[in-house]
Amino acid sequence: MAVERTLSIIKPDATAKPGATGEILARFEQAGLKILAMKRIQLSETLAQGFYAVHKERPFYGELVKFMTSGPVVVSVLEGENAILAHRDLLGPTNSSEAPAGTIRGDFGTDIERNATHGSDAPETAKVEISYFFNASEILAPVEALT
Ligand code: ATP
Ligand code: MG
Repeated sequence: MAVERTLSIIKPDATAKPGATGEILARFEQAGLKILAMKRIQLSETLAQGFYAVHKERPFYGELVKFMTSGPVVVSVLEGENAILAHRDLLGPTNSSEAPAGTIRGDFGTDIERNATHGSDAPETAKVEISYFFNASEILAPVEALT
Protein backbone atom coordinates (compact mmCIF):
# COMPACT_ATOMS: atom_id res chain seq x y z
CA MET A 1 0.00 0.00 0.00
CA ALA A 2 1.11 3.53 -0.67
CA VAL A 3 0.30 6.93 0.75
CA GLU A 4 -1.95 8.62 -1.80
CA ARG A 5 -3.80 11.90 -2.21
CA THR A 6 -7.32 12.22 -3.55
CA LEU A 7 -9.76 15.01 -4.37
CA SER A 8 -13.02 15.02 -2.48
CA ILE A 9 -16.06 17.17 -3.28
CA ILE A 10 -19.05 17.52 -0.99
CA LYS A 11 -21.74 18.38 -3.55
CA PRO A 12 -24.49 21.05 -3.28
CA ASP A 13 -27.20 18.60 -2.13
CA ALA A 14 -25.07 17.68 0.88
CA THR A 15 -23.76 21.17 1.72
CA ALA A 16 -27.43 22.25 1.86
CA LYS A 17 -28.22 19.73 4.62
CA PRO A 18 -27.68 21.09 8.14
CA GLY A 19 -24.78 19.32 9.84
CA ALA A 20 -23.93 17.14 6.85
CA THR A 21 -20.68 18.87 5.84
CA GLY A 22 -19.15 18.39 9.28
CA GLU A 23 -20.36 14.80 9.58
CA ILE A 24 -18.97 13.85 6.18
CA LEU A 25 -15.59 15.44 6.97
CA ALA A 26 -15.59 13.66 10.35
CA ARG A 27 -16.09 10.32 8.59
CA PHE A 28 -13.05 11.03 6.42
CA GLU A 29 -10.92 11.86 9.45
CA GLN A 30 -12.23 8.93 11.49
CA ALA A 31 -11.16 6.64 8.64
CA GLY A 32 -7.61 8.01 8.91
CA LEU A 33 -7.73 10.38 5.93
CA LYS A 34 -5.98 13.67 6.64
CA ILE A 35 -7.35 16.94 5.27
CA LEU A 36 -4.39 18.73 3.65
CA ALA A 37 -6.41 21.51 1.96
CA MET A 38 -10.04 22.57 1.94
CA LYS A 39 -12.37 25.33 0.70
CA ARG A 40 -16.10 25.99 0.36
CA ILE A 41 -16.79 27.58 -3.01
CA GLN A 42 -19.51 28.27 -5.57
CA LEU A 43 -18.60 26.57 -8.88
CA SER A 44 -19.10 28.66 -12.02
CA GLU A 45 -20.68 26.96 -15.01
CA THR A 46 -17.28 26.97 -16.74
CA LEU A 47 -15.51 25.37 -13.77
CA ALA A 48 -18.16 22.64 -13.44
CA GLN A 49 -18.15 21.95 -17.19
CA GLY A 50 -14.37 21.64 -17.15
CA PHE A 51 -14.34 19.35 -14.15
CA TYR A 52 -16.83 16.94 -15.74
CA ALA A 53 -15.52 17.38 -19.33
CA VAL A 54 -14.98 13.60 -19.53
CA HIS A 55 -18.80 13.25 -19.41
CA LYS A 56 -19.64 15.99 -21.95
CA GLU A 57 -21.13 13.58 -24.51
CA ARG A 58 -23.32 11.87 -21.89
CA PRO A 59 -27.05 12.70 -21.83
CA PHE A 60 -26.91 13.79 -18.18
CA TYR A 61 -24.04 16.31 -18.63
CA GLY A 62 -26.19 19.46 -18.77
CA GLU A 63 -28.21 18.47 -15.70
CA LEU A 64 -25.04 17.48 -13.85
CA VAL A 65 -23.48 20.91 -14.47
CA LYS A 66 -26.72 22.58 -13.35
CA PHE A 67 -26.72 20.50 -10.16
CA MET A 68 -23.05 21.15 -9.39
CA THR A 69 -23.58 24.91 -9.73
CA SER A 70 -26.82 24.96 -7.71
CA GLY A 71 -25.08 25.80 -4.41
CA PRO A 72 -21.75 25.71 -2.61
CA VAL A 73 -19.41 22.73 -2.72
CA VAL A 74 -16.63 21.82 -0.29
CA VAL A 75 -13.50 20.65 -2.08
CA SER A 76 -10.67 19.06 -0.16
CA VAL A 77 -7.43 17.19 -0.64
CA LEU A 78 -7.26 14.04 1.47
CA GLU A 79 -4.15 12.01 2.18
CA GLY A 80 -3.68 8.54 3.60
CA GLU A 81 -2.76 4.92 2.95
CA ASN A 82 -4.59 3.81 -0.16
CA ALA A 83 -6.57 7.07 0.04
CA ILE A 84 -8.26 6.86 -3.36
CA LEU A 85 -9.97 3.53 -2.72
CA ALA A 86 -10.41 4.16 1.00
CA HIS A 87 -12.29 7.39 0.22
CA ARG A 88 -14.46 5.79 -2.48
CA ASP A 89 -15.31 2.96 -0.08
CA LEU A 90 -16.61 5.53 2.40
CA LEU A 91 -18.70 7.16 -0.37
CA GLY A 92 -20.32 3.92 -1.56
CA PRO A 93 -21.76 3.25 -5.03
CA THR A 94 -22.48 6.15 -7.44
CA ASN A 95 -26.26 5.74 -7.23
CA SER A 96 -27.43 6.97 -3.83
CA SER A 97 -30.73 5.12 -4.20
CA GLU A 98 -28.74 1.86 -4.26
CA ALA A 99 -26.04 2.86 -1.77
CA PRO A 100 -26.28 1.03 1.58
CA ALA A 101 -26.99 2.85 4.83
CA GLY A 102 -23.70 3.65 6.51
CA THR A 103 -22.11 4.85 3.27
CA ILE A 104 -21.95 8.60 2.70
CA ARG A 105 -23.93 8.41 -0.54
CA GLY A 106 -26.47 6.13 1.15
CA ASP A 107 -26.87 8.46 4.13
CA PHE A 108 -26.70 11.91 2.50
CA GLY A 109 -27.56 11.52 -1.22
CA THR A 110 -30.83 10.98 -3.07
CA ASP A 111 -30.35 9.37 -6.48
CA ILE A 112 -27.79 8.74 -9.25
CA GLU A 113 -27.23 12.45 -9.84
CA ARG A 114 -27.72 13.95 -6.38
CA ASN A 115 -25.22 11.67 -4.69
CA ALA A 116 -23.66 13.99 -2.09
CA THR A 117 -20.00 13.49 -2.92
CA HIS A 118 -17.29 13.00 -5.50
CA GLY A 119 -14.02 11.12 -5.14
CA SER A 120 -11.14 10.74 -7.59
CA ASP A 121 -11.01 7.27 -9.12
CA ALA A 122 -7.28 6.74 -9.88
CA PRO A 123 -3.87 8.29 -9.11
CA GLU A 124 -3.70 10.06 -12.49
CA THR A 125 -7.17 11.58 -12.20
CA ALA A 126 -6.51 12.52 -8.56
CA LYS A 127 -3.45 14.50 -9.63
CA VAL A 128 -5.34 16.36 -12.36
CA GLU A 129 -8.38 17.01 -10.14
CA ILE A 130 -6.30 18.26 -7.19
CA SER A 131 -4.47 20.76 -9.38
CA TYR A 132 -7.80 21.81 -10.91
CA PHE A 133 -8.78 23.31 -7.53
CA PHE A 134 -5.58 23.90 -5.56
CA ASN A 135 -2.16 25.47 -6.08
CA ALA A 136 0.74 23.49 -4.63
CA SER A 137 1.23 26.22 -2.00
CA GLU A 138 -2.31 25.67 -0.68
CA ILE A 139 -1.70 22.00 0.12
CA LEU A 140 -0.10 21.67 3.54
CA ALA A 141 1.56 18.46 4.64
CA PRO A 142 0.55 17.19 8.09
CA VAL A 143 2.55 18.63 10.98
CA GLU A 144 3.15 16.73 14.25
CA ALA A 145 0.81 17.97 16.97
CA LEU A 146 2.38 20.22 19.61
CA THR A 147 2.43 18.61 23.02
P1 ATP B 1 -17.86 10.95 -9.13
O1 ATP B 1 -17.02 11.08 -10.40
O2 ATP B 1 -18.75 12.17 -8.88
O3 ATP B 1 -17.07 10.56 -7.93
P2 ATP B 1 -18.59 8.35 -9.96
O4 ATP B 1 -17.16 8.21 -10.41
O5 ATP B 1 -19.11 7.33 -9.00
O6 ATP B 1 -18.87 9.75 -9.33
P3 ATP B 1 -19.26 8.97 -12.69
O7 ATP B 1 -19.69 7.92 -13.65
O8 ATP B 1 -17.89 9.54 -12.80
O9 ATP B 1 -19.54 8.41 -11.22
O10 ATP B 1 -20.32 10.14 -12.79
C1 ATP B 1 -20.02 11.45 -12.35
C2 ATP B 1 -21.24 12.05 -11.70
O11 ATP B 1 -22.24 12.25 -12.68
C3 ATP B 1 -21.90 11.16 -10.65
O12 ATP B 1 -21.30 11.29 -9.39
C4 ATP B 1 -23.32 11.67 -10.65
O13 ATP B 1 -23.45 12.88 -9.90
C5 ATP B 1 -23.54 12.00 -12.13
N1 ATP B 1 -24.13 10.89 -12.87
C6 ATP B 1 -23.54 9.71 -13.21
N2 ATP B 1 -24.37 8.94 -13.93
C7 ATP B 1 -25.53 9.63 -14.06
C8 ATP B 1 -26.80 9.38 -14.68
N3 ATP B 1 -27.03 8.25 -15.35
N4 ATP B 1 -27.76 10.34 -14.59
C9 ATP B 1 -27.52 11.51 -13.94
N5 ATP B 1 -26.35 11.81 -13.33
C10 ATP B 1 -25.37 10.90 -13.37
MG1 MG C 1 -16.13 9.62 -11.63
